[in-house]
Amino acid sequence: MTKLSKDVFATGAAALSVEAAVDLIMARVPAIEATEMVGLFAAEGRVLAQTLAAAVDLPPFDNSAVDGYAARWSDLAKDGETKLPVAGRIAAGHTLDQAAPEHAALRIFTGAPVPEGFDTIFMQEDCSLLDDGQVLLPPGLAKGANLRPRGEELAKGAQALPAGRRLMPEDIGLAAALGVTEFKVRRRLKAAIFSTGDEIVSPGMALPVAAVYDANRFMLHAMLQRLGVEVEDLGILPDDRGLITTALGEAAKSYDLVVTSGGVSMGEEDHVKAALEAEGSLAFWKLAIKPGRPVAMGILHGTPFIGLPGNPVAVFVCFAALVRPLIAALNGATAEPLRRQKVVSGFAFTKKPGRREYLRVSLRTDAKGEAVAEKYAVQGSGALTSLTRTRGLVELREETTEIAPGDRLDFIDFALMR
Ligand code: AMP
Ligand code: MG
Repeated sequence: MTKLSKDVFATGAAALSVEAAVDLIMARVPAIEATEMVGLFAAEGRVLAQTLAAAVDLPPFDNSAVDGYAARWSDLAKDGETKLPVAGRIAAGHTLDQAAPEHAALRIFTGAPVPEGFDTIFMQEDCSLLDDGQVLLPPGLAKGANLRPRGEELAKGAQALPAGRRLMPEDIGLAAALGVTEFKVRRRLKAAIFSTGDEIVSPGMALPVAAVYDANRFMLHAMLQRLGVEVEDLGILPDDRGLITTALGEAAKSYDLVVTSGGVSMGEEDHVKAALEAEGSLAFWKLAIKPGRPVAMGILHGTPFIGLPGNPVAVFVCFAALVRPLIAALNGATAEPLRRQKVVSGFAFTKKPGRREYLRVSLRTDAKGEAVAEKYAVQGSGALTSLTRTRGLVELREETTEIAPGDRLDFIDFALMR
């Protein structure tokens, strides 16, 4: 396992911007180098460890894109219809069982190989088969129409997929189309997760006075799993500095990443930051983000550590902003920035400058067909329903202070955050 030096993140900055934190992570966190081979059925979401080159041309031979008739462009009348005898028939998976005749058309079907010299294919809907067995071809087709030339998509040897790509279903389809049976991918990351807090109780237990059920561990588990991480649930730690220090130190020795929630504020019962400082080193603590500040990021025995805030919405937002890029870095994957789309504000809002803020919004379509974001009424960082009852986040940049109805806003759809 790659071990990071304690001062790999050292910045000295007070409250770090989200951008600076992500840059720091992408620049300083090396990928876990180990790789393994996985078959096509097991490759979804895995990170490609080497460039995949096309071992064959794609498509592998000139073939027809339609059901119809193939002809030589040089046989076609330039100013009207063309009548040609139909001299053969080629179905997909078969070749012409004779030499391609001169001055003739061929009946051909989608995916069937196009014989040398035939370069233009007419859709059957546009042709008429005459009683004498000839076919009437309409004018106006360009040379090469409806023909998929060999190697048109990828020539043999060309790059099909770049190293670092998180394999999507369509990538797997492309690789299979090239005859690939397995990929060299990064081994799965192993992350340990903890919740912290004397008040936190696991679902399934009785709920004592002053306690709340643990939401974060389960949400974090699911979010990490979606990113292809192997997650180990290490339970709930009480607000006890000694216990937290020991538990985090131990976990850091066996995992690629340790993630906690809670216990990173300035309260006397917030021990995670102190534990990190005792066992490892703190990279940054104050992140200029709402909801979310503070987040304790650092190195524990050479392993990256992120102490997320306790409030569940802050966990969700900081995961998207920080944990996603951290996992990309550890995976040697190309960073996938959150995809933002422009929407129209349906609300007014005043914001403090100097920090990035994420509002939970629903979307509606106005009379002009434009997407309008409406701010959810409850924006508390503890309110999980502000995530379950909305469509996504509006991202307000550091310099923004005022939002008026009609302003253009950056919207991040929950469906595109995974
Ligand atoms: P803390 O950051 O530890 O001060 O926690 C901030 C708030 O988040 C408190 O109201 C906690 O009770 C709550 N909280 C902390 N951890 C969790 C958790 N795992 N699940 C649900 N709420 C939590
Ligand atoms: Mg706490």
